[in-house]
Amino acid sequence: MSEVTPLHPGTARFEGGLTEVGPGVHAWLQPNGLLGESNAGLVIGNGASLLVDTLWDPRLTRRMLAAMAPLVKTAPIETLVNTHSDGDHWWGNQEVRGSEIITTESARAVMEDQSPAEIKRFGALAGALRLAGSMPFPYPRRGDVAVIAAYAGEALEPFDFDEVRLVPPTRTFSGELELDVGGREVRLIDVGPAHTPGDLIAWVPDARIAIAADILFVGVTPIMWAGPLERWVAALERLLGLGAERFVPGHGPVCGLDEVRRLIDYWRWLDQAAGKRLDAGMSPPETAREVILGDEIAERGFADWLAPERALVSVGTIDAHRRGVAKPPGPRELIAAFFRMALLARDRARRAP
Ligand SMILES: [Zn+2]
Repeated sequence: MSEVTPLHPGTARFEGGLTEVGPGVHAWLQPNGLLGESNAGLVIGNGASLLVDTLWDPRLTRRMLAAMAPLVKTAPIETLVNTHSDGDHWWGNQEVRGSEIITTESARAVMEDQSPAEIKRFGALAGALRLAGSMPFPYPRRGDVAVIAAYAGEALEPFDFDEVRLVPPTRTFSGELELDVGGREVRLIDVGPAHTPGDLIAWVPDARIAIAADILFVGVTPIMWAGPLERWVAALERLLGLGAERFVPGHGPVCGLDEVRRLIDYWRWLDQAAGKRLDAGMSPPETAREVILGDEIAERGFADWLAPERALVSVGTIDAHRRGVAKPPGPRELIAAFFRMALLARDRARRAP
């Protein structure tokens, strides 16, 4: 068994660490694919290789690079690709020295607005809430505060942002970009906005492997920060049409075509389940609550995906696009969403058989 165990509490649902997915294409897998438990990909050519994504902090990234070291000894990482702007896919960039760093134009624009200071403030807030939740005097909804504090505190605990020095990409593109990695073709395809404002997938035709990053979540509920939903479905259809046999998701185990189709099913179901409630005048948080705590999620077979409460964010995004006001959530909205997700996770656990 691999030493790469889950970062959050729980037992591993799949094998972690470095695994060869196909000839000269490797995946770094982090069970169980929850917050910050992100994967990366490595394509090895003749005398040069390409790394797809770093991890959320330098320490985790160093552990991954140490595992990759024997593979890249004679084929150094000349190119680093960042698939999108979420920190768990690029905040470890500083550990990959001397590589050209590529992303999409739209992802790069979002990266410029980010800082690790923001996430540290969030961590400090979680600490304060944990303290408040444990205080002996009564105040309204103290139980809720304790639940939120535990959820937020646990979510960020495995990561160390103190050392993070942001190293943004040096080269951008839109549309498609074909790269030569030591004689192998790797095609970067801009498929955003979907999960975030800028998302790309990396396609390795000679191995029939697509590194899908956060366009694909397996065994864990996806979260749609940006949307629109139709663009995410189109990106998944693009994945299906590549001629790929295996896919490396951003979160979860390596998979085949069926898991890509399942995610399309999920989005179509959520779109319809949320749409009819929003049409009837229900608010997005109420809508999400009904969808997440209702029976249909299990009937459709999505209840065993981890973190079903993430649908709260996706429903908010669906609603914003319907009203034509879609924009990525700011820090205040993120914190509010986090709090609501904490309570939904508790209420779902309570009603579980
Ligand atoms: Zn991610």
